[in-house]
Amino acid sequence: MFRSLHMKLMLIMTLLIISLMTVVGAFLVNSVSGFYLEQFYSQMQGVFQNDPEFVHDLQNAGAEENGAEQLARMLSTYTGTLGVDGLTRNYYVLDGTTGAYLAGSNDTEGPALPMTYNLSAALTGEVGDRSDPALSYMDVAIPIERGGRDYVIYIKDDKQTVQSLTGQLVTLILEALAFGIAISVLLSFLLSKTLITPIERLTEGAEEVAAGDFGHKIEVDSRDEIGVLTSTFNDMAFQLRTTIQEVENERNKLGTLFLHMTDGVVAFDSKGQIIQSNPAAEEMLGRALPIGGEVSYDALFGDVASLEEVLGQGSQDYVSSSRELGSRSLELLAAPFDRDRQAGVLVVIHDVTERNKAEEQRKEFVANVSHELRTPLTNIHSYAETLVDSAGGLPPDTERSFLNVILSESERMAHIVQDLLTLSRFDSGHSELNLTTFSFSEAIESMVSANLMEAQRHGHTLTTALEPGLPQITADRERITQVMMNVVSNAIKYTPDGGRIEVSAGKTGDRVWLEVSDNGIGIPSQADRDRIFERFYRVDKARSRESGGTGLGLSIAKEIVDRHNGVLCLVDREGPGLTIRMELNVEGPNHGKA
Ligand code: ADP
Repeated sequence: MFRSLHMKLMLIMTLLIISLMTVVGAFLVNSVSGFYLEQFYSQMQGVFQNDPEFVHDLQNAGAEENGAEQLARMLSTYTGTLGVDGLTRNYYVLDGTTGAYLAGSNDTEGPALPMTYNLSAALTGEVGDRSDPALSYMDVAIPIERGGRDYVIYIKDDKQTVQSLTGQLVTLILEALAFGIAISVLLSFLLSKTLITPIERLTEGAEEVAAGDFGHKIEVDSRDEIGVLTSTFNDMAFQLRTTIQEVENERNKLGTLFLHMTDGVVAFDSKGQIIQSNPAAEEMLGRALPIGGEVSYDALFGDVASLEEVLGQGSQDYVSSSRELGSRSLELLAAPFDRDRQAGVLVVIHDVTERNKAEEQRKEFVANVSHELRTPLTNIHSYAETLVDSAGGLPPDTERSFLNVILSESERMAHIVQDLLTLSRFDSGHSELNLTTFSFSEAIESMVSANLMEAQRHGHTLTTALEPGLPQITADRERITQVMMNVVSNAIKYTPDGGRIEVSAGKTGDRVWLEVSDNGIGIPSQADRDRIFERFYRVDKARSRESGGTGLGLSIAKEIVDRHNGVLCLVDREGPGLTIRMELNVEGPNHGKA
């Protein structure tokens, strides 16, 4: 019932008023009766002790024959001073020995006076003026002695006046109490309304925040503690909203990262159930990974390490393993997350197929380089050794032919080294293109005429078919000529003598193209066709070497064309022979790029 602040406040106010009124009332009542008591005795003292003349007159009066009447008469003249009204306060003249009633202002009560403490004291000759607030009356008894006659003057007040006064006071206090309670109820209602309304608003706001609505702002009306609390609460809600937004952004960022990262990630709970996975993981493992689905940790990675083993890994530790899946090489790293609670396991999957392939290629490349250099080096070594051993004993012709072999082999080595250097410059990005604008048709024609003699030497017919009006292009002329030379010289090399070679060129859109076709041996196998732009790749190694090839020409050509943002490819056509096509931007390498 008193749960609400409203009621509590009302109860406190009412209790406060009641206790206040009770204390004040008790104090007032007590003070009034105390005052009355004190008043009575000081009045009596004023008459019977401080006025010796009056007392002397009383004694004289008492000594007379009809002493009692004389005394009564004297006292009746002093009723005003003594406060005797004949109703609540009376005076009596009693016999000094027996205490019997002789005269007084109240004949009805006089004969039946009770023997009070003060009265009995006066009968023994003492003044009886002891005050006792606990008694229902106040009295004073004065013995009068003279001439052998003893009397006692006895004044008694039955406190009727003070009782009716305190009665009225109590009624007044009770009325004030009732009035005070009514006011306190009203005030506490108003006060509680002022106090509680902002608290209620605060509570509503807190409920809305608890329900997730951080945008709600509570109005601050006052500057008191509740006002401060409300504005602090608003600040807190704002901070909370900002923090939650930041966390949300961070989560979205991580979510996007998780979704689009190239590495696969699968998270399992401590029971081995999937709790998160990304598309890359599904793609790499080639299966769906539904959250909380049938697929468990054991089924997927049980062979790598048991769930318990991964969960037991110390900080920074993880279990790694590799797996071949179809044509893919995967590297798996499994580590527990939230290690203290052993909440679960995270498995990261790297697709290392490309890396392994690159590593393979690197190894192959190094082996190829060593091999390509070793062959001429061995030849040079053996011929030079023979020359040294014979010490001039060989016929001059043989000696010359040996020296020619040494020369051509060293030239071949120099050629290979030069090609490797060119490629390494491309790889390290140190080779800048020297762009100029030149006539494409002119460049083709001068390249063709440079190859004409060699073609004729092999009995080939080398023809050109250029579209009229080929534009000027922006490119590195020297390097593009190197590409065309390589392609045409390959056509000459790989076409049996007496073949046909055609160089055609044209323009499509904002690109120019060049095709070199021959009717030579071609490359029938698709596997070989796919690889001819690789470094040192040669379909027929012996033939290539015989004709002075290094197996690097087409890879250099491809690098150059790629750097021009052009295309160098094999044209897919039926044999015999081969067609290689080059495409370049008319406006230069950067055309069409932002
Ligand atoms: P190489 O110095 O051996 O000629 P390239 O890189 O220029 O090296 O060519 C790579 C390989 O491609 C050659 O070894 C050859 O087997 C093949 N090839 C290139 N052009 C032709 C062609 N026109 N006809 C047939 N095969 C060719």
